[in-house]
Amino acid sequence: MSSNNTQGFGTKAVHAGVTPDPSSGAIMTPIFQTSTYVQDAPGVHKGYEYARTQNPTRDALQASLAALEGGTDAACFSSGLAAMDAIIKTLKSGDEVLCGNDLYGGSYRLLVAVYGPLGIKSRYINMTDIELVKKSIRPETKLIWLETPTNPTLQITDIKAVCDIARELGIPVCVDNTFASPYLQNPLSMGATLVHHSITKYIAGHSDVVMGGVITSDKKYAEKLKFIQNASGAVPGPQDCFLVLRGIKTLHVRMDRACENAMKLAEYLEQHPKVGKVMYPGLNSHPQHELAKTQMKNFGGMISFDLKDDSIEAANKVLSGTKLFSLAESLGGVESLIGHPASMTHASIPREQRLASGLTDSLIRLSVGIESAEDLIADLEEALS
Ligand SMILES: *Cc1c(COP(=O)(O)O)cnc(C)c1O
Repeated sequence: MSSNNTQGFGTKAVHAGVTPDPSSGAIMTPIFQTSTYVQDAPGVHKGYEYARTQNPTRDALQASLAALEGGTDAACFSSGLAAMDAIIKTLKSGDEVLCGNDLYGGSYRLLVAVYGPLGIKSRYINMTDIELVKKSIRPETKLIWLETPTNPTLQITDIKAVCDIARELGIPVCVDNTFASPYLQNPLSMGATLVHHSITKYIAGHSDVVMGGVITSDKKYAEKLKFIQNASGAVPGPQDCFLVLRGIKTLHVRMDRACENAMKLAEYLEQHPKVGKVMYPGLNSHPQHELAKTQMKNFGGMISFDLKDDSIEAANKVLSGTKLFSLAESLGGVESLIGHPASMTHASIPREQRLASGLTDSLIRLSVGIESAEDLIADLEEALS
């Protein structure tokens, strides 16, 4: 079914990109588990030659993603980092990427450890400081990469303000929209050229797929990304594309519940005597709460908090005390997860640097799922006592 911009998000989530299979009428897009396609005569085919280049299951998913972010084109890759890798491959030696300073660890590693030695530079600044963004752009800056909300301190960057600065200088902005999902925030509508997703998280939503995607309305970028998708070949398989298509159909419903639960948990944590600081963009106490209200539809399912007893030992007691919250990396699934960035996702960052960015020893990160809020609160209550 085709989609258009007047449709609501829920309608797009269920229908965009998906048409009944013409050969059978199957309402769900089949898993086209094939590597090649039979041609009627040399060069005479139905638009499909080889499955690295094109696959109908992947095509449906890409059309769906483009509609959800309000873009014209999307390209999917075998992981979020493979999607980022494809974007960075549009640059050349001597170019620089200007980034937010609390980037997802794997994104930082890709830029510094893989692309640094190849001559593509990256620089890291506090993107929430718009004046600093303006001052930090250099002639060799060819891409601005930002995440909002950030991980794990959930800071908010003003997407439109950064895009306004970049547009004057002709620099494309890519927003890693993983934490918000396309339901809560659409960076293309605020002036971004590219939107990046780790589809692994909210979009797939069931902790059973690793995948990435890029969405754009810029035809030149769309062509380059499709070229790299085929030329470098980090494509997702059709089974995974099917699972993501299925996940997308409930994205808005899952996000609504995750946001509702997260708000209740954040309020609960904020009044708990053992809890120090609670970081959640939906709280009045969040320094960028007003900004979050203007660029996000709701405040997401991620919460971070630390303890008054700011020690790793105190954090460990909470981390090993929950029963519903599973101790694991990743986020965005239907089940709630709990993690300790200082010893898990951010262990490679030196302690001083970590503390300077607000990532304290006892900081605990929650990915709030769609369970019943009372049970999640009771689980934290137990673990905190
Ligand atoms: C997980 C994640 C990535 C990397 O995606 P993978 O699918 O794990 O490769 C990039 N950015 C953010 C914000 C993430 O959470």
